[in-house]
Amino acid sequence: NAPQPATLDAQALRGWPLPALADDADKEARGRILVVAGSREIPGAAVLAATAALRAGAGKLVIATGASVAQPMAFAMPEARVIALPETPGGGFQAGSAQLLADTAAAAQSVLVGPGLMDAQATCDFVQALLPRLAGRPVVLDAGAMDVLQRQQRLAEPVLLTPHAGEMAHLSGLDKDEVLRDPLSAALAAARRWNAVVALKGPVTVIATPDGRAWRHQGGNCGLATSGSGDTLAGLVAGLAARGADLVQACAWGVVLHAQAGERLAARRGAVGFLARELPDEMLAALNALQ
Ligand code: AMP
Ligand code: MG
Repeated sequence: NAPQPATLDAQALRGWPLPALADDADKEARGRILVVAGSREIPGAAVLAATAALRAGAGKLVIATGASVAQPMAFAMPEARVIALPETPGGGFQAGSAQLLADTAAAAQSVLVGPGLMDAQATCDFVQALLPRLAGRPVVLDAGAMDVLQRQQRLAEPVLLTPHAGEMAHLSGLDKDEVLRDPLSAALAAARRWNAVVALKGPVTVIATPDGRAWRHQGGNCGLATSGSGDTLAGLVAGLAARGADLVQACAWGVVLHAQAGERLAARRGAVGFLARELPDEMLAALNALQ
């Protein structure tokens, strides 16, 4: 007897307000976020995620990225401090470089790991070394960073996972068709198995928690099925967590605002052809309209 998911929409969010920011909040109080993302071939994923995190209202941004792209990224993202991580020949981060993030991670209110990483094997080693240093704060694992789950029975503390159906199939060992046929069961099973909040993304997104709660969101449009779109969702969610939302609330708000950003762009520019880099501006507009 699978539980019925609650409907997640703008209406539901109005009854679930984000923690208020004090008028006198400084940028520390607004939340520090660490975005571990981007690599030689996919540096833009870090910029997309980081931009969305700032549009969500996070106060202070640190990006940790591959040494080969750290300098240009610092210019592309003038709001950020950028930490250069030593790379493997395959463009991943060396596992030992997790150590370089100890202080920054300890000072962060929220951490996002995963968009635009290369070298699956190295990424697993690196994320495995990093996770114990992130205890006690909201963590979002996206894209390649989720592969670490294949080595992990259960996470010590809940993190948020943001797989699309293909990634969920890969992680759980199901066929993609099975995931698509019953996304609620797939999300609930993954949430329980790994002790994670799971946002199983798609035209319909299902959110599930380790204790068996679930939400269903339908919205957005196929214009959101574009390169970099998921990176902006991950950044948005981590940004909302940095300013004080818990993981479940940040995820719920992020999913709705990401879809609304797509709807706003579609209304102005047409159903497809808008760019992921245009989403963060619209997320801010959608956020302001909802609050
Ligand atoms: P990713 O595949 O990681 O880039 O993430 C794509 C994002 O776009 C997810 O948040 C999906 O929920 C969303 N998305 C993709 N296709 C659609 C669609 N046809 N309708 C609504 N949202 C979509
Ligand atoms: Mg993605």
